[in-house]
Amino acid sequence: MADFGGTDLEAFRGEVREWIAANFPAALKGRANPMMREERSKPSAEQEQWRKAMGEKGWGVPTWPAAYGGGGLSGGEARVIQLELNRAGAYNPIGGMGVMMFGPTLLEYGTEAQKQEHIPPIVRGDVQWCQGFSEPGAGSDLASLQCKAEDKGDHFVINGQKIWTSGAQFADWCFCLVRTDTSKKHEGISFVLFTMHQPGVEVRPIPLIAGNSPFCETFFTDATADKKNLVGPLNGGWTIAKRLLQHERSGLSGAGGGGGGMFGMAKSLDVLAKEYVGTDEAGRISDSDLRTRIINNAIDARAFQQTAVRAMMEAKGNSGPSAATSIMKNAGTRVMQDRAELTLEIMGSQGLGWEGEGFSADELSAVRGWLGGKAVTIYGGSFEVQNNIISKRILGLPDLTQNH
Ligand SMILES: Cc1cc2nc3c(=O)[nH]c(=O)nc-3n(C[C@H](O)[C@H](O)[C@H](O)COP(=O)(O)OP(=O)(O)OC[C@H]3O[C@@H](n4cnc5c(N)ncnc54)[C@H](O)[C@@H]3O)c2cc1C
Repeated sequence: MADFGGTDLEAFRGEVREWIAANFPAALKGRANPMMREERSKPSAEQEQWRKAMGEKGWGVPTWPAAYGGGGLSGGEARVIQLELNRAGAYNPIGGMGVMMFGPTLLEYGTEAQKQEHIPPIVRGDVQWCQGFSEPGAGSDLASLQCKAEDKGDHFVINGQKIWTSGAQFADWCFCLVRTDTSKKHEGISFVLFTMHQPGVEVRPIPLIAGNSPFCETFFTDATADKKNLVGPLNGGWTIAKRLLQHERSGLSGAGGGGGGMFGMAKSLDVLAKEYVGTDEAGRISDSDLRTRIINNAIDARAFQQTAVRAMMEAKGNSGPSAATSIMKNAGTRVMQDRAELTLEIMGSQGLGWEGEGFSADELSAVRGWLGGKAVTIYGGSFEVQNNIISKRILGLPDLTQNH
């Protein structure tokens, strides 16, 4: 019996199992998390009921402090909750950018008043956040950002444009990097929070090749942010942004343990290959080269997942993620993209359908998954930029770039 943080995990497992059985609506069993889909703007009664139950319990963010509504639990207990949710065919309804990156950053850098105001609504899943970082001329070189905030006494007035703002069309609030000093680059950036429900905010969704519209161009014309919603010091936003990006990379790779990572596909590759490619007389996948590549992907995925779980269990000191999240992001991304490539290869021409009765639901989602997967080596900082961070911050190699 494992024991982390002095708690009897088996007794806790029983408690969790009982609570899920009593609270998880049977109608949602096996359903995908609406947080991950565009239907999240119009949830069903059962989805709302489940969100409220998990939100009040604090188990959607099990390791966050109980003082702000979180579970106040250890990494080991959080893992038990995730495993029990999986076992019951349930999803964690509390998620999004508030959980993955903004909340943990505010817990570290926010004032007590900011934490009291913004953390509980994230814990309950009442408020959705979006990330206003990238601009048309500021992606990898994020510190080139130009979106400007003028000091007007008790508030800032914000003018400028952001781009690739994921979920901006569904978001209630934005955590945003703004320029508050034009004479300096990194030291002229501040981290502010403001509501998206105000006249100076315009959101234009951008359609993607994968067939949906997960992100937007976002324009600010005299939008306002209260001074009380400046996080950290004026012109001190760069440090906070870098920390937030570590949380983002940790969450994107699946290494954050929140279950929102890259390994959510239903059928395993070997099962798929046996169905589509067939088996030899020994019952193995008939194409030996394909077999080897499927095994390599399975080994990489298992090694990645074990490393992610170990990192989470070891993070008892609550020091949070480090530059090593860049390694986890690139490693997780590679496994996920390899898997998407192999899936299409296994399905052959059946994996190329976009719509129509000649294709199963799995086949139709395979090509969308493959196309959508192209984005993961870009968002949260591109693959190449992560390699730069690994070289500089972990390997200690000389910095030959101008970027973060
Ligand atoms: C699906 C998706 C969702 C996103 N969601 C958000 C969001 O919610 N909020 C937000 O603010 N942003 C978001 N982004 C933006 C994302 O963070 C940027 O796209 C990313 O940082 C890269 O910036 P860029 O697109 O401007 O590319 P560029 O910075 O122009 O890079 C172009 C290419 O050059 C390479 N490159 C650039 N600099 C270097 C260097 N120094 N060394 C080596 N290679 C380099 C890059 O790796 C890339 O291949 C999202 C992006 C995508 C695709």
